[in-house]
Amino acid sequence: MTKKTVRDIDLKGKRVLMRVDFNVPVEDKVVKDDTRIAAALPTIQYVLEQGASVILMSHFGRPKDGPDPKYSLKPVAVRLAELLGKPVKMAPDVVGDEVEAMAKALQPGDVMLLENTRFYPGETKNAPDFVDKLAVLGDVYVNDAFGSAHRAHASTVGVAERMPAVAGFLIEKEITFLGKATGDAERPYVVILGGAKVSDKILVIENMLAKADTILIGGGMANTFLKAQGLEMGDSLVEDDVLDTAKALMAKAEGKLVLPVDAVVANAFDNDAIQKVVNVAAVSPGWRILDIGPKTVELYKSKLADARTVVWNGPMGVFEMPNFAKGTFAIAEALATLDAVTIIGGGDSAAAVNQAGVADKVSHVSTGGGASLEFLEGKVLPGVAALNDL
Ligand code: ADP
Ligand code: MG
Repeated sequence: MTKKTVRDIDLKGKRVLMRVDFNVPVEDKVVKDDTRIAAALPTIQYVLEQGASVILMSHFGRPKDGPDPKYSLKPVAVRLAELLGKPVKMAPDVVGDEVEAMAKALQPGDVMLLENTRFYPGETKNAPDFVDKLAVLGDVYVNDAFGSAHRAHASTVGVAERMPAVAGFLIEKEITFLGKATGDAERPYVVILGGAKVSDKILVIENMLAKADTILIGGGMANTFLKAQGLEMGDSLVEDDVLDTAKALMAKAEGKLVLPVDAVVANAFDNDAIQKVVNVAAVSPGWRILDIGPKTVELYKSKLADARTVVWNGPMGVFEMPNFAKGTFAIAEALATLDAVTIIGGGDSAAAVNQAGVADKVSHVSTGGGASLEFLEGKVLPGVAALNDL
């Protein structure tokens, strides 16, 4: 970790402008899942304990034309106050005279929440005049919203460039673990890649080929690789337009890429479809691969057995359908038993690990879907780059 965190800076008496991810599910003005709010508490509480006040900002949904009550963060302020056990001052706006007056009046220990930053088009455009108005609110910037760090917005990059800028604990953990995945990982280093499409993950595969010892391929993506090797995939999801890319990746991989040997096929894309296990060379027309098969699970477990670092992105099958979730859950359970640093990236993969009940048995489940993918591609995230170096 080469970036400063809240531990590396004097916060006493400061007004801390903190970017958090409060983009949570809300129904009828009530927060339905407060996981993300709860996740932000350690950094908020730490900053308050140092004698600072906190001004929180977040985006929430995608409002199109300016302020819209449907996209107000008010319900979040209510839930946050309950979790913190202290009042949260809800700002009537994101910026402006009234908000500035409220920010100036904050005392150490006070918490204020700005309205949805996306009420202003200047947020996503990182417009200097909007950044000016945000920046006057605080003395120190803290970013704890990893899921937005791949976007160069006013609240993730613009304000960070105007004042001392440090990482919160969530971003610190993300950079520490994802940094192991892209930096000097302890070997053997095994990467598991799945999900629907090769085309979504070409840059991840290329970057991981340069870092890992072995890459285990599953999910719909495997079909394209198998077809590129000349196998018939029946009615399986195949991306014919990237067959050449798949071939080139395999040539470059020099045996590092491991493909499934068997699969669960179904006669329809339906949880209740008829299913059977077949060799990957025996997928007939009318049938589609919806999961990896039991031999592949055993093969992949054996490849994982002595790993010291494992990164997993992308489910092994259509795990949203319970009848085709076996392969994905078996891999999740295998990871939970390893004596290795185990890192899960990607929104669906995180959901799968949670559903498998092993989220607390792996080293790190990334909270940033798109951000974790860009990190695994080897990209520098603008929201991280904008933070002060140690
Ligand atoms: P993540 O969000 O973890 O990066 P992706 O979004 O790349 O993962 O992939 C997840 C999706 O891939 C899931 O919706 C899953 O149903 C789909 N998928 C996995 N295996 C297959 C398959 N064999 N055929 C079609 N879709 C698949
Ligand atoms: Mg996904």
